[in-house]
Amino acid sequence: MSEIGVSGVEAKPSILIVDDEERIREGCRKVLLNDGFEVATADRGARGLEMIEEKHYDIILLDLMMPNMSGFDVLGRVKALHPDSTILVISGYATVEHATEAMKRGAFDFIPKPFSPDQLRLLVTKAIEYTRALQDIAGEKSRTRVLINRLTDGVLATDRDKRIVLANPSFQRMVGFQEQEGCVGRTSLEVTRDDMLEGLIDQALAMPEEEFVELAEEWKSGGEGGSGERIFNARCLPFRDRSGRNVGAIMVLHDITVIKKMDQVRSDFVSMVAHEIRSPLNSILAQIQVVRDGLAGGLTEKQEEILGRASERIRGLVSLSSELLDLARVESGLILQEREQIDLGEMLKDQRDFHSPRAEAAHITLDLQLPGPLMPVLANRRNIEEVLSNLIGNAISYTPEGGQIELSAAVENDYVRVSVKDTGFGIAPEDLDRIFAPFYRVKNDKTRMIVGTGLGLPIVKSIVEAHNGWIRVESTPGRGSTFHVHLPLGK
Ligand code: ADP
Repeated sequence: MSEIGVSGVEAKPSILIVDDEERIREGCRKVLLNDGFEVATADRGARGLEMIEEKHYDIILLDLMMPNMSGFDVLGRVKALHPDSTILVISGYATVEHATEAMKRGAFDFIPKPFSPDQLRLLVTKAIEYTRALQDIAGEKSRTRVLINRLTDGVLATDRDKRIVLANPSFQRMVGFQEQEGCVGRTSLEVTRDDMLEGLIDQALAMPEEEFVELAEEWKSGGEGGSGERIFNARCLPFRDRSGRNVGAIMVLHDITVIKKMDQVRSDFVSMVAHEIRSPLNSILAQIQVVRDGLAGGLTEKQEEILGRASERIRGLVSLSSELLDLARVESGLILQEREQIDLGEMLKDQRDFHSPRAEAAHITLDLQLPGPLMPVLANRRNIEEVLSNLIGNAISYTPEGGQIELSAAVENDYVRVSVKDTGFGIAPEDLDRIFAPFYRVKNDKTRMIVGTGLGLPIVKSIVEAHNGWIRVESTPGRGSTFHVHLPLGK
């Protein structure tokens, strides 16, 4: 026999039989005891009530018709005292009306006298399964609640009218809600007092059925830039019923202050180092040039060759420090502020003209295919030039002589797609994701001699993502690569 747990403790299911008819009471008791249950009996309704007041029973077998007190009275009392006890009704005067009435008042099922031991067992087994399911649900619910209440992330759930159904202590602390009466039943705006969070909830509740995306924003509290400032990642989703209708919204706040601050320190450090290195390097370059120009006396061919190589390496360092600076600036969002409507077609023409001499020198064709005028995108001009320049520069660097590069652009849904396609060395599948990580460079016989920093693509990716766009690459080793950049239309 399976055992059910009460309050999480595994125990024998306990059954109380309340019946004035001794034959029935004792008959049931024997059958159920034999089956391993803990059984108690009461010969009157009043006695049954006393026992119920003292102890919780998992199942109560209740005679509907007893002298002095009807089973209905006992039923009402049990429901009030122990709503989780399962009541099974026994009655010799069973009629459909009695049965229906008892069920309406909360009885689980009904067994008419006379009944066989097997019929009794069947009914009790069914009741136990039901009780176990109820207890599982109750246990699950309370576990979930404890879990949510202990989470360090803030969790908020609202109904469709933006009334709060749940807000865990972390959420209340994060939004600075301190009122004693609690926040359940209040509107979300009363509790968050923040237009941005309210906007996220509005957006989630208005999300059409066919769409299901997590909305995310960075949210700050406690005074902009001050020592008490906290930075959160706020995520919001609609909550749906079975038919897919939005019945509420769920919001989660995750504190990212420490990560943000560390990122800022790292970025500042990189900028500082890059900046401090660049000026002395440029001055060394200038001095070497003076020597190479013969202004400090004549040079042998060997000396000229050595100084040439040294200059080359220093130029590499200068470009590394410039790219580090760019990355740090993009990451801290510094140069993204000024945005304007940009015609990517025009920008691609300029870029083609700018890179053509280098492509020609490498015997590579550089073509541009445009379907006609493009709709503008709202973006930072310098940043987008940098994106295109990096991708075209890479295409030239990683394509051997005689190759072709094709630039193209088109409007796709709400985005402009710009593609840079080459017939170069290509990228192995395992490297496709890694090339966007800072300093990652593919090292093989073909690329070993090509100078680079491994910072171009990370800068490109950061810029594109900061413009709410995305970048994708397709490549076949030995045949070539295509980089696609998608930027939202500047509507
Ligand atoms: P860098 O070019 O300075 O090494 P990037 O971040 O721009 O740095 O590129 C990272 C790596 O990705 C490159 O070292 C190269 O191996 C690979 N890569 C980038 N663009 C292409 C391309 N068009 N074709 C083949 N490989 C490429």
